[in-house]
Amino acid sequence: MEVILSKEAGFCFGVERAIRMAMQSTEKEAGKVYTFGPIIHNPQVVEDFKKKGVEVIADPEDISAKGVVVIRAHGVKPTVESEIKQMGVEVVDGTCPIVKHSQKYAKKLYDEGYQVVVIGERHHPEVIGLLGYTNETAIVIDPDVTEVQIPPGKKLGVIPQTTLEVKDFLRVVGLLIEKAREVRVFNNVCNAVTDIQEATKELSQEVDMVLVIGGKNSANTSRLAVICRALGKSAHHIETPKEIQKDWFYGMKRVGVTAGTSTPDWIIQAVMERAQKLGEEAEREVLAANS
Ligand code: SF4
Repeated sequence: MEVILSKEAGFCFGVERAIRMAMQSTEKEAGKVYTFGPIIHNPQVVEDFKKKGVEVIADPEDISAKGVVVIRAHGVKPTVESEIKQMGVEVVDGTCPIVKHSQKYAKKLYDEGYQVVVIGERHHPEVIGLLGYTNETAIVIDPDVTEVQIPPGKKLGVIPQTTLEVKDFLRVVGLLIEKAREVRVFNNVCNAVTDIQEATKELSQEVDMVLVIGGKNSANTSRLAVICRALGKSAHHIETPKEIQKDWFYGMKRVGVTAGTSTPDWIIQAVMERAQKLGEEAEREVLAANS
């Protein structure tokens, strides 16, 4: 049995950058280190930081000691950033530059009188942060909708959650154009995500099954599993090698491995090794049973 790694998988530059900034903060000895929300959507990486004394907070009020607060790649509302600063700590801004671009554009559209529309998941931290740049006035539209409701007579300024699939973004923009006279679209879908999605589609054509690695709370990882299944492939979304089961491999000749943007290389390698081992064991059992 062969295990094939997707041409594109794992950490994007925005996540790598935020992790590096958090790591450097733990080495600075500038007091307690906090991250505002889990640094990335990967419980294993968050656990590693916890062992280094890093505390995850959900509210600026949770800051109880002097030190550093690292803002993760998804970014935060401007009001949250001000509240953190008011607590007298240093702010290390790990907001991905691509997300930062969306935030600036959301503010610009809002200031110019547009009704801002964010296409994305309402409860995703990036979307929550973006709403703050429109004084909480933006409308959020789910990328899976088939029809849209918008207030009449408004000029619309549209921004995607960066991890959207381009086809979903374009489809919803099409629905909005049918409803409004003026629609200004900011295409800020992230290439890192689309590259992994395209490579995963390619991989799906070559294999019998796909292992998709990443946090169960990672939107872009869950999307990869959906993409594989939509192409008729069996896909298992796992966080760690321990979750892999031998009975997945019976009858499999080629198994693909892909990973979301918040999955570190060491987990990808460990999954590849365990998949190879269990796949070979399953193969030997089948041979023995047939001989
Ligand atoms: S997926 Fe793209 S936008 Fe999101 S953190 Fe990574 S590089 Fe930035």
